[in-house]
Amino acid sequence: MTFLGRDGFRQRELNTLPMALDDTMLWDCSSKGWHCCVDFGIPVKPYDVIRLRHSTGKTSRELINEHAVTFQWVGDGLGAWLAQVPHQGNHRACMFYEELTNQDISRIRDEDPARFQSFPPNVQQAADRTQGGSYRVAGLCSAHANRPEACRSFPFMRHADWEERPGQEPVSQVHRCGTCALKKPTTVRDIVLENGLEEFWRTDLLWRATKSYLISRGLANIADANYRALPIDEADRLELWGSCFNPDILPEVTEHFEDQWQLDTDLDGDRAIHRLVLSAALDRVDTLVAESGVAIEHLGFADEPPMERPDFDALSDTSLPMLPVIAIAA
Ligand code: SF4
Repeated sequence: MTFLGRDGFRQRELNTLPMALDDTMLWDCSSKGWHCCVDFGIPVKPYDVIRLRHSTGKTSRELINEHAVTFQWVGDGLGAWLAQVPHQGNHRACMFYEELTNQDISRIRDEDPARFQSFPPNVQQAADRTQGGSYRVAGLCSAHANRPEACRSFPFMRHADWEERPGQEPVSQVHRCGTCALKKPTTVRDIVLENGLEEFWRTDLLWRATKSYLISRGLANIADANYRALPIDEADRLELWGSCFNPDILPEVTEHFEDQWQLDTDLDGDRAIHRLVLSAALDRVDTLVAESGVAIEHLGFADEPPMERPDFDALSDTSLPMLPVIAIAA
């Protein structure tokens, strides 16, 4: 497993605009990717990596070793981002970003009809406009069917702690896509539902709980006099966090889900793998703490009580409404 620093990309400055879910707004995706896929780094979570395996036909081990997913400590845990490649002068684009001309689209219509059918109607129409030379039509995602949560949410960002902060809107707008000629009346609620985000938000409950547990047991990388770290090697700390993003190194995954990453899609399998991976991380945390001999009351932030081990059954209960966003829409 290879851990890299982020390769010089920019993180989006979150000058966010809180959004009410049902206020009408003018917006649509231009299918250009100029604001969402270029210049700004795309954060990924463990479930995003599991999903990306299907679109890339690669295991998580390959994605990480080939530097498609890069890591850096941020805040209190290990963060991961998609790699970027040079793009038009001084810009950088996500490695899955693919700009297509009218002639590219015409060729794809002939050579790969299934892919052509997956293009938005306004992009498909360009296949018939090849008389006037070549021009840029779209910036598409080669991992579209399994693109990460951050991409699906754009130009919005969910506040995962919405329910813990009375008065805070559940979503903020992180970028104004205001110039698209295709824009039409819509709402934040419609946009997030159209992009299949419920699946990602449900799995995020497990990841958030796992991160909190690691932090509570002294496994965060926090330089704070108030934080009591578990005394282990830094390499072990890094490897433990990194394992959450690398399901294909876990024997239970390779044994029960052999070659599952080769399927186009398998949401049930992905969910099960995600849970297996995070459960394995929790088990390892418990083992490390037990081996250290340090009482859990002496780990983590001094002013916070030790966290109970997360109940993944409760967090995975699909009968519960995911968020007010979904509950109100149902
Ligand atoms: S994964 Fe796809 S949608 Fe997300 S930034 Fe990369 S190209 Fe754009």
